[in-house]
Amino acid sequence: MKILIAEDDFISRKMLEKIFSGHGYEIISASDGDEAWRILEEPEHPHLLILDWMMPGLTGVQIVQRLRKRPNGHSYYTIILTALDTPTDISFALDGGADEFVPKPYHADVLRSRANVGRRIVSLHESLSEKMRLLEEANITISRQAATDELTNLYNRRFFNENIMKSVSAAKRYQFPLSLIMADIDKFKVVNDTHGHSAGDQVLKVFANILRNTARTEDISARWGGEEFIILLTHTSCEGAAVMAERVRRLMESECFRITSIAVTVSLGVVERQNDEDAEALIKRADKALYCAKDEGRNRVVLG
Ligand SMILES: [Mg+2]
Repeated sequence: MKILIAEDDFISRKMLEKIFSGHGYEIISASDGDEAWRILEEPEHPHLLILDWMMPGLTGVQIVQRLRKRPNGHSYYTIILTALDTPTDISFALDGGADEFVPKPYHADVLRSRANVGRRIVSLHESLSEKMRLLEEANITISRQAATDELTNLYNRRFFNENIMKSVSAAKRYQFPLSLIMADIDKFKVVNDTHGHSAGDQVLKVFANILRNTARTEDISARWGGEEFIILLTHTSCEGAAVMAERVRRLMESECFRITSIAVTVSLGVVERQNDEDAEALIKRADKALYCAKDEGRNRVVLG
């Protein structure tokens, strides 16, 4: 483990280096407080420190006080070495954030043993923060997975439902328009039956990509289930949503065959939220508009 030895007196510094060499420490030395601080500003700097109190530039206690103000200030183990050893001095150093106070002259073995305690604590801290980091990463992955449809990488129904509730109440409060597009791949069962399920999955992915590329960042596109998709557009009127729906329809008609060699179209229902309409009623109306599009011969956009 890296250990920083900051001591301005040349002989004392060499003695300290000797005490720690050959005991599993990588020794980094500084001959004054400012040099010690520069070392502590480098990446991968030591977290176990032996600091002389009285040095030119920053004193050992000032270094400790500054370190404790860092966001990871608690991850250091600091030993203050000094000839000042009145109870007031000791309290001042420990209250300033030092972990250990060793008066000069010290016994070499005892000082090394005290540093060994620090090494155990720094290692424990390192392994804990590594575990915390992994846990945070796992949490991010889990919440992303909980909100995402595995096949298409769009949001899933659960995430959509949570967000439409929020958007509807915001639209009610701030009186902005909110629209919904419900889309369903035409004759999807035929695709699966004729070309197999992996071809069907491919078609779903192509459509998901079209939605991703067409939607604005503030829109929420989700896989509603099976071959049904839903798009929530805030601050958008029915006319604006219809323009997007028509773009999606045309892209599906032209793109899908180019990519999958299977000609597939999509039907879309578009609605805008009306006075006091809640999320459930809005979805129901979008669904109705979608089924009108199916009834009228598919591959079209119908406004509800
Ligand atoms: Mg000194």
